[in-house]
Amino acid sequence: MVVVMKTSATQAEIDQVVERVRTAGGEAFVSPGELRTIIGLVGDTTRFMELPLSQLPGVENVIRVGRPYKLVARELHPEPSVVKVGSHPIDRRSVTVIAGPCAVESETQALEAAHMAKRAGAHLLRGGAYKPRTSPYSFQGLAKQGLEILAACREETGLPVVTEVLEPRDVDLVASLADCLQIGARNMQNFSLLKEVGKAHVPVILKRGLSATVEEWLMAAEYVAREGNMDIILCERGIRTFETATRNTLDLAGMAVAREATHLPVIVDPSHATGVRELVGPMSRAAVAAGADGIMVEIHPHPEAALSDGPQALTGDDLDRLVDEIAALGASLGRPVPGYQRETGRTPSMGWGSPQQ
Ligand code: PEP
Ligand code: MN
Repeated sequence: MVVVMKTSATQAEIDQVVERVRTAGGEAFVSPGELRTIIGLVGDTTRFMELPLSQLPGVENVIRVGRPYKLVARELHPEPSVVKVGSHPIDRRSVTVIAGPCAVESETQALEAAHMAKRAGAHLLRGGAYKPRTSPYSFQGLAKQGLEILAACREETGLPVVTEVLEPRDVDLVASLADCLQIGARNMQNFSLLKEVGKAHVPVILKRGLSATVEEWLMAAEYVAREGNMDIILCERGIRTFETATRNTLDLAGMAVAREATHLPVIVDPSHATGVRELVGPMSRAAVAAGADGIMVEIHPHPEAALSDGPQALTGDDLDRLVDEIAALGASLGRPVPGYQRETGRTPSMGWGSPQQ
């Protein structure tokens, strides 16, 4: 951090800034200039941020240099992190596919979807047992029963499961039945939930908030990391803009910025980003081409009957085709879809339609 003093600042005012910084355990380096004095601060900048330095007499401006997040910053951890979910490693050398229904609706529906995910070559099964719905009258999820159904799906297909936790009091229960917790977009700045998940010993997918900047998203990850849980996967899922043609606006540049700024894996959810089934394929391909470490997509055995997010749900055939394409694209980028040929017996295919189709 740098403190820029006013041209009129007195020596006593400069000394006061230096004194405050030293009392907070930092070091202050004073550079007197022709017009104004600049003071460079070294030490734990998070502690300086709590000091009201900009309020002190004689201070013109306080400028932050460097990043406010530390544990998740690539600066302090240049080696990319590998986050293991069950036995599947999410890393920067391969492309992970996560698929499953928006919500667990019944055992039959969830099992059917789990088999679709498995057949397509997905590595993890997603599915909501606690649903954060905009309307309190919409289907809210099966709660504990939904978690048990997910555990049964894992039993049957071998796919580790990812599911959202909405409240701090549910973290232990969800962590005991799932392989990976999800913090949804609406809860990205629910700090008590972030802290509780930070104390859990299971990986977490942290979705970007609907109106969160990349920095706010990374600061949310820092909350989880600070409690000791470094197994964090960031997920870009579209942000709110003026555009209404799609449900949200997929911010692939934000994904790339986050991927550069941190050592954590960053994946993309093109389902919630677009809200439109036909756009899930193109945006998945774009995400992989832009460097995403994985995609998370919604599927449903009968999208027209889905209790939530039917219009964005892929069918089993859609998902097969999507994974074939991602495998082909990944192979050309030196980022394979692990186990693809072994699990599916299919061959990568670049056979996607023209943009006009
Ligand atoms: C979800 O993935 O089930 C979900 C609710 O997504 P988001 O939090 O991104 O809206
Ligand atoms: Mn959904």
